Formats: sequence, structure tokens, C-alpha cells
Amino acid sequence: MMNNDELRNELTFLRDVGFTHLDIRQPAAAPAIIEDSEAKTLLGELEAIAVVCVKCKLAKSRTQVVYGVGNPNADLMFIGEAPGRDEDLKGEPFVGRAGQLLTDIIKAMKLTRDDVYIANVIKCRPPENRNPEPDELEACHPYIQRQVEIIQPKVIVTLGRFALQSLTGKAYGISSARGNWLDYNGVKVMPTYHPAYLLRTPSAKKEVWADMKKVMAELGMEA
Ligand code: URA
Repeated sequence: MMNNDELRNELTFLRDVGFTHLDIRQPAAAPAIIEDSEAKTLLGELEAIAVVCVKCKLAKSRTQVVYGVGNPNADLMFIGEAPGRDEDLKGEPFVGRAGQLLTDIIKAMKLTRDDVYIANVIKCRPPENRNPEPDELEACHPYIQRQVEIIQPKVIVTLGRFALQSLTGKAYGISSARGNWLDYNGVKVMPTYHPAYLLRTPSAKKEVWADMKKVMAELGMEA
């Protein structure tokens, strides 16, 4: 049972991130249409809540919250798992070795990191880069949900199993799901492998590139 202070904090958090009731898996009470000009402000307001978040145990060990970067009106959003050491120190997602590979993938698509939006399903580094735990994924879910609602991308690319499963709330296997379009609250989702996996298994790069070509075609870009 939550005590009154915990309940008040929970309600304030849910209200602040746009939820009107306690089921955090329900769609937020977001305005149906968010004007492009509003997205930056709304993302900033959400970030102000996220950077002081203590909703899970990762708050104790993090250096800083890694909220997300990029174009608030991006058509394309990349969603990864959780910050690693480099990201925890810099406060920016995908800046380590796996991040460099993601940046290369974005460049190969003839885009820059500023054209797209990059975030993780978990905003704080798990100690020793361990896998995120269910309570952490659950606690952090409203942030990515709200980021997607504000940005309203045309396509989301999920990177790896945790991003895919946490975003959709479904137990997809990454090898069978990758390359196949899924839906997340009306947004097209292309699951692909995590860049850290590509560092270990470079032969899988061709599959990721095939997935990115589908994304480019969907966005009307030339491959
Ligand atoms: N891996 C992720 O999933 N996210 C990051 O930000 C960095 C590495």
C-alpha cells in the first residue's frame, strides 16, 4: 500500500506526464493534435520532470538522466534500451561505441542526428550495464510514451529486444520481429537489431540496412 505522500507523488507525476488515472499503460490525455511549434516546449516540460525523477532505484546510481535528443518534430524516432557509461556521463543517448554505429546508420540514410529524435525506454543507466528490470521499465514507460505522443513521428525504429518489448508491451522475439512493420498507438514501428549487437555480430549489419531501407521507403526517401 502506498502512503499518502507516495500516492500524492504518484498522482502528481501521472498528471504532469499527462495521465488522468493510475493505469500507466493507458494512452495519455494528450491533445489530439500537437502543433509543431508546441512540441519543443512540451518536450522541455517533460524533461524538467524526468531529470528529477526518483520513480525507480536507478535514480540512486545514475550520474544524470538521459532524456533524449533531436528534432522535436522528427518524422523518424530511434528508441534504444538504456544509457551506458558514456551516456550517463554526457547526458545524451547513444554517444558511446554503439552510439557511433547508430550515428553512422543515420548518416547512411542521408540524415543527421538533428533530423531525427533519439531516446531510450529507460532514462537512467542500470549499474554495470545490466539488463533493465521489469519495475524499472514500468516506472519509466510514461516518459517514452509521452515523448512519442508529443513528437508524433511517422516511423519509430526500435533498437533491440528491450526497446521493442517495453514500447509495445508485447513479448516479441527480436530475430522474428525485426524487419516487420508493427503498430504502436497508430505509429508505424520497425524493429531492428541493437547497434551493440552489430558490434558483436557485424554480419547482421545487412539485415539492419534492409530494415532501414523499408523505413526510408515509408518516409518517401531515396535509398
Ligand atoms: N545503448 C542504448 O540502448 N542506449 C544508449 O543510449 C546507449 C547504448
